[in-house]
Amino acid sequence: MRKNIVAGNWKMNKNLQEGLDLVKDLQTALFNKKVKCDVIVCMPFVHLASVNGMIDKTKVKLGAQNCADKASGAYTGEVSAEMVASTGAKYVILGHSERRAYYGETNAILKEKVQLALANNLTPIFCIGEVLAERESGKQNAVVKKQIEEGLFDLSVEDFGKVVLAYEPVWAIGTGKTATSAQAQEMHAFIRQTLAAKYGQAAADATSILYGGSCNAGNAKELFTNPDVDGGLIGGASLKVDTFIPIVEAF
Ligand code: PEP
Repeated sequence: MRKNIVAGNWKMNKNLQEGLDLVKDLQTALFNKKVKCDVIVCMPFVHLASVNGMIDKTKVKLGAQNCADKASGAYTGEVSAEMVASTGAKYVILGHSERRAYYGETNAILKEKVQLALANNLTPIFCIGEVLAERESGKQNAVVKKQIEEGLFDLSVEDFGKVVLAYEPVWAIGTGKTATSAQAQEMHAFIRQTLAAKYGQAAADATSILYGGSCNAGNAKELFTNPDVDGGLIGGASLKVDTFIPIVEAF
């Protein structure tokens, strides 16, 4: 059956020492706690190897926030999926709306990244979601469907089974505006239906679909209670133990 997951996305926050301190504090807070979800922290590339060296993988799992769309070679400044995997990281966020909006990541580019991540045994946390104008004009389902179709639907059912999805309505990211519990459930059910039509109901039912967008201690429980919401991708609230742990405990 699918896993419940709470994944932090630190974005471009925390220097190396601050990152190490946060992971140490998270582990201390989780020590002796029986949590009912996987806890993942996705951090800047430069932190990965050091954090991997001190992380208790039974408590916290390690992820990156991006990888290159090429395997290797003359791509100055890029970091390949193989390099990410060599640090010990097991997850990689792909297609975050900030990457799509500020760095021109198209579905075609993301398709390459997903394949390279999987080829290197990284689990992609593949982000999808509509902008405000698209929701206001009722196009959210079509937008999300296209992102899934173009980014993921050339995967075999076996490879697709290794992917985690994160629905993040762009208008809710970092804005303090959360999708209502009903809006989240409605979209997550639509996503699962879309997956079932392509890969079959069993594969769709086995896929974790996370919600992201101003998720916090106050709204996590209500969001996670929905049958098709399998956890959260957490930005701002993942930067402090006091705001992240209550979300983990919402399960
Ligand atoms: C995110 O960027 O993935 C996110 C969900 O951010 P926030 O929780 O800050 O809205």
